[in-house]
Amino acid sequence: MISIKTIVFNPFAENTYLLYDDTKECVIIDPGCYTSEEQDHLKKVIERESLIMVGLLNTHCHIDHVLGNAFVKSTYKLPLQIPEHEAQTLAAVPGYAANYGFPEYEHIAADQLIKPNQIISFGETEVKALYVPGHSEGHVAFVNENEKICVGGDVLFDGSIGRTDLPGGDFDILLKSIREQLFNLPDDTIVYPGHGPTTTIGHEKKSNPFCAIT
Ligand SMILES: [Zn+2]
Repeated sequence: MISIKTIVFNPFAENTYLLYDDTKECVIIDPGCYTSEEQDHLKKVIERESLIMVGLLNTHCHIDHVLGNAFVKSTYKLPLQIPEHEAQTLAAVPGYAANYGFPEYEHIAADQLIKPNQIISFGETEVKALYVPGHSEGHVAFVNENEKICVGGDVLFDGSIGRTDLPGGDFDILLKSIREQLFNLPDDTIVYPGHGPTTTIGHEKKSNPFCAIT
């Protein structure tokens, strides 16, 4: 069974997720830790839960989701895996990091590119990379359909959707991703978004002001 720990990092209140199962093998998704206090906090959570770190994944590569990539890669000796169409988004980060208040951002490039629908394993668990562009060009959500879990990044939020005014953003494509990909998941699938509280597919289908379909 999948366990999920959420840690909120950096001034953007970005949700960093630790996904693991009974084997304690763990993937980290979107490490947003920036300060040494945040890095220490992450290390303590990993130690406290006795997690065995086996994967470093990004849903997409905006700065608030990638601030901790270098730290996690070097601390746990993990290759960085990003969606295949996010390489450009990641490459742009050093150019604006200081303007966003992160002059100490340490840049690393991807080691591996995740293809749409690629399966990623940890322990006895698999998640699938669902391709959901629109907030950024190559955005993916990591989904386990059996356990009805969707780590969705900045696509669908509780009562809102991802912004589309950044490079690579497209409102129509985002809505299409939500309606044709995410809304195909079972209604009781829990969405773990990049910011804010969890929600469910069914709840957003019914009440989200941007993309409700009923
Ligand atoms: Zn984003």
